[in-house]
Amino acid sequence: MRPVVFIPEFIHASGRQALSIECDLVTPWKEGTSIMDVPQSDTEHRAPLYEADAVIVRTFTISSEDMQRSQRLRAIVNHGVGVDNIDLKAAAEHGIPVAYTPTGNTNAVAEHVVALMMALSRRVVPARQALIEGQFNRRNEFQGAEVAGKTLGIIGMGRIGRQIVKKALGLDMKVIAYDAFVSASDFPAHVLRKENISHLLSGSDYITLHVPLTDQTHHMINRETIGLMKSDARVINTSRGPVIDQEALHGALLDGRLGGAALDVFEEEPLSAHHPLNDLPNTILTPHIAGLTETAMERISMQSAQAVLNLLHGRPAEFPITDEMGF
Ligand code: NAD
Repeated sequence: MRPVVFIPEFIHASGRQALSIECDLVTPWKEGTSIMDVPQSDTEHRAPLYEADAVIVRTFTISSEDMQRSQRLRAIVNHGVGVDNIDLKAAAEHGIPVAYTPTGNTNAVAEHVVALMMALSRRVVPARQALIEGQFNRRNEFQGAEVAGKTLGIIGMGRIGRQIVKKALGLDMKVIAYDAFVSASDFPAHVLRKENISHLLSGSDYITLHVPLTDQTHHMINRETIGLMKSDARVINTSRGPVIDQEALHGALLDGRLGGAALDVFEEEPLSAHHPLNDLPNTILTPHIAGLTETAMERISMQSAQAVLNLLHGRPAEFPITDEMGF
């Protein structure tokens, strides 16, 4: 009998095609439907989960009770990084292996950081606004800054941090970095490791955050640490919103104690259209899209399909998750 794979949320066609060679797929949408027309997550319609051998989830929740009812479930694969939607402890208790796909959008995020850094430097957003308001002659107000020769400070020398190093060096930037758990010998070449975050903050023209959200990183950027930054420093956050104390950042931007900020993630998502950050001219906000590219979606879909096939065949997944990983 062909195994059944339940895919409650939209994933790129590539992974679905790869799976359909040896599995039957159950999706709540019809083949050929555009991503725009598929609900982002529909946790109500979960009946197919209880008849499935494997499931690929994005934000769809899987509880201990679901696992109890899913007699056939042999594989849970998370499409992407965040796995707080899956009860990992229960999965371990039920002996259901869980895998994820953390590398699929690494380059997409790194490229978004470059896009934000460049857009901040050249004031692309307010310049466009002036243009569409018929104020072409305000162009001298939009004199920009060049990134070449400037110092980029990277906090978190993991997958995304390392990918940014390559791009920044290609832009002729100097790169310094801070990571609480990676030693200097494991840092990429041409990156100066800072022993503590204060030294990184005071020495950077651009600061970009690439740490997970933990008790240690919560509000890592706050009133006090912002005070250590250069007054024209630009801060970029594509990691997790609560890594920055948003109120403190807003205050510093408003008072001209910082050069600018570009945020893709927020303390509360979705960010309200009326949030005061929306009113600042030296700020660029994007709606958690850093990892969203066609290439990344295709890669993650294929990686998810491969993880399902590995687990169904009793092979180890490339990126398994265990309760001990502390997610
Ligand atoms: P990673 O696990 O590869 O790297 C994280 C790094 O942070 C590690 O090297 C770790 O040692 C370091 N770190 C952990 N705690 C630290 C601390 N207290 N101080 C200093 N360094 C610390 O993760 P990654 O794949 O590079 O992802 C980084 C972040 O990007 C995560 O928060 C992830 O959720 C986020 N992300 C966002 C998007 C998006 O669309 N905006 C997409 C993908 C990932």
